[in-house]
Amino acid sequence: MRTPFIAGNWKCHRTVEEALALAQAIVRGVEGLSGVEVALCPSFVALPAVAERLRGTGIAVGAQNVYLGEGAYTGEVAPRMLAGLCRYVILGHSERRHLFGEDDRLIHAKLLAAMEWGLAPILCVGESLEENEQGRTEEVVAAQVEAALADVEGRLWQERGGVIAYEPVWAIGTGRPCDGATANRIIALIRSLLAERYGSRIAEGTRILYGGSVNAANIGEFVEHPEIDGALVGGASLKADEFVAIVRRTRAVRVSDER
Ligand code: PEP
Repeated sequence: MRTPFIAGNWKCHRTVEEALALAQAIVRGVEGLSGVEVALCPSFVALPAVAERLRGTGIAVGAQNVYLGEGAYTGEVAPRMLAGLCRYVILGHSERRHLFGEDDRLIHAKLLAAMEWGLAPILCVGESLEENEQGRTEEVVAAQVEAALADVEGRLWQERGGVIAYEPVWAIGTGRPCDGATANRIIALIRSLLAERYGSRIAEGTRILYGGSVNAANIGEFVEHPEIDGALVGGASLKADEFVAIVRRTRAVRVSDER
């Protein structure tokens, strides 16, 4: 059985002090809660302090991005710098794709570099509003998954604990989430692509999340579907009470009914 997973993407928010206070409030809120994995992804600036604060709590830490390696790359962070500091790294987020021009080739290269240094990618894929309206969701999502995982070995993907997040671009930060049944269908498609590529054991063992305007009121609508293993949460992860409620609701829906 896959352990449900709720990851908070704090994006470009919070000073170090504010990040520590938020992490502390979340630690208190989920203390003693089993059956759901939680990860927090602060900015690079706050990451070391938050990682230190979360040590021994069972809450994992993730970065929001990483570059390919060390060198003359002003402003970038190399995977080796994150190794040992955090477990996860978000890659291919729509804000990286659309605001910073990251394409499938770069995302694929980052994914390989991150995994080489022991990090677990949270690979984000999802169609734009225009692609959705053109009925191209499946085609776009499949192409993004295939490009990111091209020549990535199944054994390595499994060992690192790679995660995929289906995040329709039009649902991110808009307050207009995808409906649960549709997200479940697209996530099932992603799992079938993993099965073709790596076989059913790895596909069934990979967590695939939904992301896009998730909050405490709607998380149940997603995790009640068998293919949806949790959520990548943006805005709502900046409010400790809301984020904790998302984790608790996920546990109530998924852990009690042992799918
Ligand atoms: C995200 O940033 O990955 C995200 C899903 O944001 P939000 O929850 O705010 O839509």
